[in-house]
Amino acid sequence: MKYDCLIVGSGPAGLGAAFEILSVKPDAKILLLEREKISSGGLRNDCKMNFTWPTGFPEEYWDKDTAGSYLSRVESFLNPEILPQKNLSTYEKRAGRIGVELILIRQSHLGTDGGLKLIRELLERLEKAGVEICLQEALVSVDKKNSIARTDKREIAYKQMIVAPGRHGFDFLRKFMKENDIPYTDNSIDVGVRVETKIENYPIVKDYYDPKFLFPERTRTFCTNSGAAHVVQEKYTTSTGQIYYSVNGHAFSNEKAANGLVNFAVLRSVEFTQPLASGQDYAEFLASLAMLTGGGHPIMQRIGDFRLAKRTTKEGLNGDLYDFKPSLPTCTPGDISLAIPAKFLRSIWRALKQLDTIVPGVLHPATIMYYPEIKLYANKPHFLDRYFRATENIYLIGDGAGTSRGITGAWASGIRAADGIKLQMGW
Ligand SMILES: Cc1cc2nc3c(=O)[nH]c(=O)nc-3n(C[C@H](O)[C@H](O)[C@H](O)COP(=O)(O)OP(=O)(O)OC[C@H]3O[C@@H](n4cnc5c(N)ncnc54)[C@H](O)[C@@H]3O)c2cc1C
Repeated sequence: MKYDCLIVGSGPAGLGAAFEILSVKPDAKILLLEREKISSGGLRNDCKMNFTWPTGFPEEYWDKDTAGSYLSRVESFLNPEILPQKNLSTYEKRAGRIGVELILIRQSHLGTDGGLKLIRELLERLEKAGVEICLQEALVSVDKKNSIARTDKREIAYKQMIVAPGRHGFDFLRKFMKENDIPYTDNSIDVGVRVETKIENYPIVKDYYDPKFLFPERTRTFCTNSGAAHVVQEKYTTSTGQIYYSVNGHAFSNEKAANGLVNFAVLRSVEFTQPLASGQDYAEFLASLAMLTGGGHPIMQRIGDFRLAKRTTKEGLNGDLYDFKPSLPTCTPGDISLAIPAKFLRSIWRALKQLDTIVPGVLHPATIMYYPEIKLYANKPHFLDRYFRATENIYLIGDGAGTSRGITGAWASGIRAADGIKLQMGW
């Protein structure tokens, strides 16, 4: 049996591709392969969806018009409930005066529970449409000459293949590209902290769920969560097999009781030039340093301690000024400046001081900074065409291949690769 299309990864990129192919070829033989029990990607975590370019759309692949036309296809399929935004003019004026921009993004928010429900519904729809879904089966390698994929269980023949392994698949993708002579660049990363505070210290989120501030030095706020909001740690393995954790944030839907906290990331982007060839290696080195400093866990430090250049201690967590507990209890109280290079820390601290001028109170002494929050946007293949074809009949898409930085961008990448396949197959 030869599949018309083998799709690897059931995140938004893979799902977007599958639904697009079905829309023109309902009897297409599609196999969707997923390494985990259920899609492990961002649809499962908080599930904020952004519908305004350039959020989530790397500009080297997406100009405003291209992204706009794909975004409208994503939106008409997912039919999101766009959140209202109000009372923002004061914040915009304050930001503008100090060289900061508040970008207004059309957003929806399902929450972690809502995202899980959506994945289940989408997978059910695909199954009903005849798509074969194989969970807990991972792509290992490919014999591209004969169009045969090797998984950890069997060999699969395909006509077209889409590989969308997400951020956890960076290492896999790097190996895959090396084995298949696909040239790539790997030179940019985001490094930053996740900030957590009481909602009364960051009330803007009542008017704009995920406010996007752009500060100088390529520093920005990212992925704000409130309501039933938590900081989480994600486990990664470096290319040398070492385990590290990067922090992240999520929130449940409005149906869950709010805990009074808000969290968001402040990230600085850096692009490397020679002789530092690999952003991924550099990021893994930084993460390992953070693990060393935090005894194998992410570090947290209160703003009150940071200002005094003191480490945060366990005992300090109970002082009357430190009036909320960290929502990530496994983190280690400590000193983040031992682990963050000055270039990142200076930009982030400057940005936070500017933010405190725009939304006064966010730098309350109790506010926590968690470190590390590292985003890899590496492993960018050199594509053969505008549909993300990387070699012969293989397309590489989504966050893992650097064609997206969020759910909607990943879904749009899936549609775009499907457009390429439609052309190749004459559908
Ligand atoms: C905690 C968290 C919160 C987030 N919140 C948001 C948010 O609110 N809004 C937003 O826009 N973005 C969010 N993101 C980012 C979002 O997850 C990604 O942008 C998006 O999921 C990328 O989609 P993708 O399809 O490229 O990859 P993923 O969604 O990561 O999907 C890739 C899939 O491929 C599978 N896979 C990997 N390797 C293999 C293999 N070899 N064989 C088979 N399967 C494989 C993985 O298990 C995974 O399920 C969040 C990310 C995290 C981690």
